[in-house]
Amino acid sequence: MKSLIILGSTGSIGTQSLDICRRDGYKVCGLVAGSNIELLEKQAREFKPSKVAVFNEEKAKELKIKLNDTDIKVLSGVDGVCEVASGEGEMVINAIVGIAGLRPTLAAIDACKTIALANKETLVTGGEIVNRKLKEKGVKLLPVDSEHSAIFQSLQGAPENSLIKILLTASGGPFFNKTRKDLENVTVKEALNHPNWSMGAKITIDSATLMNKGLEVIEAVHLFGVPADNIEVLVHRQSIIHSGVELSDGAVIAQLGTPDMKLPIAYALTYPERSETAFEKLDLFKVGTLTFEKPDTDTFRCLPLCIKAINEGGLAPTAVNGANEEAVRLFLDGKIKFLQIADLVEKALINVNNKKDFSVEDIFETDKLARQLVRNSI
Ligand code: NAD
Ligand code: MG
Repeated sequence: MKSLIILGSTGSIGTQSLDICRRDGYKVCGLVAGSNIELLEKQAREFKPSKVAVFNEEKAKELKIKLNDTDIKVLSGVDGVCEVASGEGEMVINAIVGIAGLRPTLAAIDACKTIALANKETLVTGGEIVNRKLKEKGVKLLPVDSEHSAIFQSLQGAPENSLIKILLTASGGPFFNKTRKDLENVTVKEALNHPNWSMGAKITIDSATLMNKGLEVIEAVHLFGVPADNIEVLVHRQSIIHSGVELSDGAVIAQLGTPDMKLPIAYALTYPERSETAFEKLDLFKVGTLTFEKPDTDTFRCLPLCIKAINEGGLAPTAVNGANEEAVRLFLDGKIKFLQIADLVEKALINVNNKKDFSVEDIFETDKLARQLVRNSI
């Protein structure tokens, strides 16, 4: 049985990963959270990892006191998070939200851990550097994002170089078919009401703006080595086809299932085997109809902005990602309106000081500048 380290264990993907560990008996060696120490303490007492880390220093101190009757070592800050990511355990599930996931991914690759990646922002900002490091270290990275897992599953057995096109499906989010006028005054509550998936707040807003699909286009470019022009986004309201591929002979292969993140998480853990546990079975008679529509890129501008960013390359994806993270935070805090998110993302893309060869420090500098630009623009 594999031993695991779970980063972002208190979040939506993190708790579902622990459900799988509980059910299938994986050994948990390390846990990481941002600041939710109440839940992290419970998880630590149940799974008994050797180390845990809390990004927030104050909260880490509190947790240390709470856990002082155990042998569990409590670390803090980004260094503590990276120490857990590179400590005891064969595989790292990275379910941290945002660019905060990048350094821990790099630390885990350096320590030769297999990576199960939910944190798409790792690849959006550091895709080139991550791919180089994976090759250098001979380390595997398996996608957890449902679309990318579906693409990866569809490619099993396909000859190298046979991939022509990726069919990336999107639910369309809570505001499908709405006009810009309709979206002017939507509330946080409305934006958080996703039709098919229950997820963390940031990705739920990203799904409402279609930024999530834009980030996923960039993620797919880095994972599968195809240009953005060969990735077609299809709005598929039922979220039954999780994505697919078109191969050189015209065959289209896709992965279908009920929308449940436990399947792509478990597949990353068991690959190339499959879990013995059946997930909720798909009843296509019950589903009845599968529909496909083109995304409305005039209304949901974050999607074309992400495509523009990956085509420009370099630090442009980091700029749009950083601006989006900051804008989503401001929207959730009630400081900006929904449609401003795309405006701010665009502003960051226009103003990015781009370069082709860049370091991890350049990524964090660009991220900082994009966030500052957003804060100074409102
Ligand atoms: P979430 O907000 O529910 O959880 C995020 C986790 O990250 C929490 O445990 C939080 O404590 C931790 N965290 C936040 N900041 C941190 C920091 N600076 N250092 C260490 N830990 C930190 O988010 P989620 O919905 O579980 O999403 C996690 C990632 O997975 C995101 O990148 C998201 O895009 C991706 N993803 C999520 C889903 C889903 O269904 N939720 C699907 C596909 C991809
Ligand atoms: Mg996804």
